[in-house]
Amino acid sequence: MGPKRAALLERLDVRTVYDLLHFAPFRYEDRTALGDIRSLVPDRLQTIIATVKSISLTRTPRRGVSLVQMVVADASGMLTVQWFNQPYRKEAFKRGDRVMVSGKTAASSYGPYPFEITNPFCETLEEESGGEDDASLHAGRIVPIYHETSGLTSRVIRAIIRPLLGACGDLGHEWLPATRRGGHRSIARAEALRGLHFPDTGADLSKLNAGLSPAHRRLAFDELFMLQIGMALRKQKDTVLVPGHAFVVTDVALASILDRLPFALTGAQVRVLAEIRRDMAAPMPMRRLLQGDVGCGKTLIALLASAIAMQNGYQAALMAPTEILAEQHALSIGPYITGLGKSFLVLTGEMKKKEREAAVAAIASGAADFVVGTHALIQEGVTFANLGLVVVDEQHKFGVLQRTRLVQKGVSPDLLMMTATPIPRTLALTLYGDLSLSVIDEMPPGRSPIQTLLFPGSRREEAYRQLEAELKQGRQGYVVCPMVEESEKVDLAAAVDLAALLKQTAFSHRRIGLLHGRLSRAEKEGVMQRFKAGEIDLLVATTVVEVGIDVANATAMLVEHAERFGLAQLHQLRGRVGRGATPSRCLLVYHPPLSDEAKRRLRALADSGDGFKLAEIDLQIRGPGEFFGTRQAGVPRLHVADILRDADLLEIARTEAFDWVAADPDLSQPESLPLRTFLQRRSGESIEALLTG
Ligand code: ADP
Ligand code: MG
Repeated sequence: MGPKRAALLERLDVRTVYDLLHFAPFRYEDRTALGDIRSLVPDRLQTIIATVKSISLTRTPRRGVSLVQMVVADASGMLTVQWFNQPYRKEAFKRGDRVMVSGKTAASSYGPYPFEITNPFCETLEEESGGEDDASLHAGRIVPIYHETSGLTSRVIRAIIRPLLGACGDLGHEWLPATRRGGHRSIARAEALRGLHFPDTGADLSKLNAGLSPAHRRLAFDELFMLQIGMALRKQKDTVLVPGHAFVVTDVALASILDRLPFALTGAQVRVLAEIRRDMAAPMPMRRLLQGDVGCGKTLIALLASAIAMQNGYQAALMAPTEILAEQHALSIGPYITGLGKSFLVLTGEMKKKEREAAVAAIASGAADFVVGTHALIQEGVTFANLGLVVVDEQHKFGVLQRTRLVQKGVSPDLLMMTATPIPRTLALTLYGDLSLSVIDEMPPGRSPIQTLLFPGSRREEAYRQLEAELKQGRQGYVVCPMVEESEKVDLAAAVDLAALLKQTAFSHRRIGLLHGRLSRAEKEGVMQRFKAGEIDLLVATTVVEVGIDVANATAMLVEHAERFGLAQLHQLRGRVGRGATPSRCLLVYHPPLSDEAKRRLRALADSGDGFKLAEIDLQIRGPGEFFGTRQAGVPRLHVADILRDADLLEIARTEAFDWVAADPDLSQPESLPLRTFLQRRSGESIEALLTG
């Protein structure tokens, strides 16, 4: 292929022969029934082959929309083909061209011929480069329609892919032994690749278009399987092949904390604790992701895991994304650490030089058993005497590199990552398939429901009345202002203005506090303390309240411009209320007009308080790419598979891939040889690198 065409393909993200073979059509068209013009009937999708007689570009008289009209003819009659608003069509065809037209026929209202077709799919039958084109690829069959780019039509793409399918050689090679075929992988790879691009006549068109044909299923399975093989190998590399700490875990050690708690663990906490104990006792390093909705009690689990490490004579570190959160953890966990006879300290970026130096020295000497901090923990110059456990809270706020840096401050320490942004299982398996997953899917008892209500800006007064109703009963509330722009200054101004406005108007009789990212650490702490102590009724805040603030008497939250927030973020914010025994209210004030997505988001929030369910909805609204686009890197590229549509295949692929690696850890059995070859070609790396790298 020449460089020009290669460049065009690159625009479609197609760089290799593999990409090309797996460049799935986004749609299929049934062109098996080729008619002639005389046999056309109205209101049905039909395909004809004809010759262009004339073509013109005009504007519609009334609305001034561009209109390309083309008259085509075959031996049986003539027909008008027209496009609105697509002026470039005028240049795409010329008199004398043989074209194939597919579209819905309508009786012509005022044209000279009985029928017309508006905005059809239309292709020239002669290919400029010649030679490789074969009319039978484009008509008389089910025809693939690809995403196109200017200069690269579906027709050209078909002609490029066709010869590859005959000679797809190694890339089409079967890696799956015949004995394992069946069900969703009933057909061989080569057959699946052919079926993806040039389905047999008689194939089920609706299945093809839904991406559920046997060809799609087989290729999707393969993609997911290879992904999971990669995960299984990485997990093996991180855990099986590296010696970790086999901590001794005794009930006595944990009881000293559990006995002092004013409550019992929830069933889900008990289950997750057992999973973590098992991991920590095993000689391999733990790599575990703990997911659980806001307020489900993850911090306590972090504390218990830390206790295990400390009682084995190791240090434990807890990293949190914000200073406020780190301080909160220190407040809530600290006393239990001291109760164990261990020492703890805080390390953040805003500490004074002297303070910081002392902390760093205590961490390096091992005098500090437990360290809670922010990004400051991973700075150069911070070394641990013997780090045995790393806990990363709100892990999605950190990059992979930051996590790795903290882990590297110990000698293969155990790693527990926690997140309150639930990820649907399908995505978790795709992104974190090399980790073990734990889920806390149960709230501590005595939590009361949060009622979520929507108010357009014009009915803000009503929302204020609801907020006041809570304050009147001696409760407290939050008013959250949105990120106006990616600018802290503007953000800040919005919060300051809003606080002033509330003070002058609806809440003049209330004590109003202000919390935002620009306050110094001491100021922030002061505001938080006063809010906790009940000296502030209404806390006006930017999204800094998103994580970690725990004031049970706060039972109302009003969010301004709720439509500007993401679904996950609003759910997180809402988690600041509903922390006590009384029912809470979340009042979302939005400003129409709303986009469809914003409508769906707000509706979902009003209807459900279940973080996992909301995450599923968020994933559906935004799709996997967007869902993580702003939050997380490393979403693997999938050609044919779709983790929403093929969720069932993902589960099967995962089980089979992990079983495969367990049975043949270095892929050296004869049955693994074709798989080895496949992986090696796919990754461009030697299989040894994949196995041990
Ligand atoms: P998150 O999972 O959001 O980090 P936290 O760990 O902050 O949640 O827990 C929220 C609150 O629930 C804390 O005040 C904590 O003390 C309390 N809590 C945790 N576990 C339980 C339990 N089993 N029963 C009652 N309250 C609990
Ligand atoms: Mg937490």
